[in-house]
Amino acid sequence: MDAKNLFYIILIIIILSFIIDKILDALNAKHYNDSLPEELQDVYDDVAYKKSQNYKATKYKFGLLTSTFSFILTLGFLWFSGFEVVDNIARTYSENSIIVALIFFGVIMIGSDILTTPFSYYSTFVIEEKFGFNKTTVKTFFLDKIKGWLMMAIIGGGILALIIWFYEATGQHFWLYAWALVSVFTLFMNMFYSKLIVPLFNKQTPLEEGTLRDKISAYAKTVGFKLDKIFVIDGSKRSTKANAYFSGFGSEKRVTLYDTLIHDLDDEEIVAVLAHEVGHYKRKHIIFNLFASILLTGFTLFILSLFISNLILSQALGVTTPSFHIGLIAFGLLYAPISEITGLIMNLFSRKFEYQADDYAKNTYKGEPLITSLKKLSKNSLSNLTPHPAYVFMHYSHPTLLERIMNLRK
Ligand SMILES: [Zn+2]
Repeated sequence: MDAKNLFYIILIIIILSFIIDKILDALNAKHYNDSLPEELQDVYDDVAYKKSQNYKATKYKFGLLTSTFSFILTLGFLWFSGFEVVDNIARTYSENSIIVALIFFGVIMIGSDILTTPFSYYSTFVIEEKFGFNKTTVKTFFLDKIKGWLMMAIIGGGILALIIWFYEATGQHFWLYAWALVSVFTLFMNMFYSKLIVPLFNKQTPLEEGTLRDKISAYAKTVGFKLDKIFVIDGSKRSTKANAYFSGFGSEKRVTLYDTLIHDLDDEEIVAVLAHEVGHYKRKHIIFNLFASILLTGFTLFILSLFISNLILSQALGVTTPSFHIGLIAFGLLYAPISEITGLIMNLFSRKFEYQADDYAKNTYKGEPLITSLKKLSKNSLSNLTPHPAYVFMHYSHPTLLERIMNLRK
């Protein structure tokens, strides 16, 4: 295998995955206007259904535009040896391999983020705005961006610097140290994400005393679940779309409800949503996902360690001075089909877990309020109720609304 062939393999991977993605999108879009199945007739009234069809079509066209832009940009960047250009710029500032790598990734990431910002701006302030979802101000939008960059620089930069340092100190064995580092970091983030990261972007307040809290406590008691950390997050600061999630474990476990969720659902429906989240915890999905992601990371790092020393990786990208960071980029591009497959497997598990959590809610509380809450949430986010099965198989982490209702009514 020479560098030229490897370069063409990378191009083929990018082109094929783009084509497959567009075929799936098109298949899905063909079913946007299907008539709704009997069980879902009451989700939308005529006006809302028209609006949802309009929303889907708008997002589809916009997605086509942005993904084509990114696709052409990536191909152009590779074709004109963009990585070599950026690598040379980074090398004018330092001879230290870690600093060169940090500058290199900094330029690539911030550069691509700036190029795609007009699209995300348009998506938020034109599309989401037009359909009544957007609550973000321009100030919050840009503050989020800057905070995201700073977090990336500190956390991403720190981890990258340590991994390169391990590589230089231990050679091929670096993957074991890198794995330990990333695993500890993952566990730490799982425990403290809500405490450390979320407050940078949102306000969280404990759910106030009252009938809702009493109903939640009464339910938690029936399943022997200690649920004293219930927080309400100001999701309405950015969007009207609603959500609820579980995070942490042990003494750090907590449930976070979007204020939009509390606004949209009645008490019984909220308890049903919580019962679903408790189901995830009780059926050990949280622990499973954590260990699966740690194992996957180990697997990926191990494969990386087999190839990273090969100079051909850097040469394939047209870079004259081989280095860990260029090898990492080439590896990332070549590894994409494998991570596509592992992502698909994780989605399979995730959909199975959603059924289990729904079953848990049905068996320990009630199925009917969960059904009505899912319908309300679908309506309020103008969800696509008739997705194509192939699209669901590839992209959905949750079963479709129809599938979940059928399962809850079983
Ligand atoms: Zn779930």
